[in-house]
Amino acid sequence: MRSLWKLRCPEGHSSIECYGSSYRCKSCERVYDDGPFDVTETEFPVDGVEPREKASRQEVLRAVVSLCNKPMRSCARASELDIPGSNRQIGRPLSALCADGLVRKMSNESRGHHWRPTDAGRQRVVELERERVFENGPDRGRAQVSTPSLIGLATVFVGLVLIAGFAIGTCGVGL
Ligand SMILES: [Zn+2]
Repeated sequence: MRSLWKLRCPEGHSSIECYGSSYRCKSCERVYDDGPFDVTETEFPVDGVEPREKASRQEVLRAVVSLCNKPMRSCARASELDIPGSNRQIGRPLSALCADGLVRKMSNESRGHHWRPTDAGRQRVVELERERVFENGPDRGRAQVSTPSLIGLATVFVGLVLIAGFAIGTCGVGL
């Protein structure tokens, strides 16, 4: 298991934030996909690791929709999104998504820009998820059906309890 305090960016900085498979170094102000590197096994600086330039549109749209799907949520600020990149790096894909009608900008003088996914944006994320399941093969698809099968098990259990209750009730009347 990786201990966070041992991890460094390619330059050897320790102030990093991990996001899924990528991470951000607060000292370099950059996002990397390769690494982070274990301080006990690495000689710094590590050569040949290029920082990622910006978050992809798909990534940003997915993050906006997933945040706005939370209870009591209808819009999101760029700084709240769970993706790497500075606000300006995320701002550009957000504007592009806005131009495509996938998110809507809610301007508020005192609290900054907020972004809300449109129905088309939500639909796009559903389609992207479907493509991802397809690309990643049956393993991922199986992982996604685990919740419905749990519900199925629960239904069977409730059914058994009802049948048992009915049987006991019938016996009680018989006595
Ligand atoms: Zn760094």
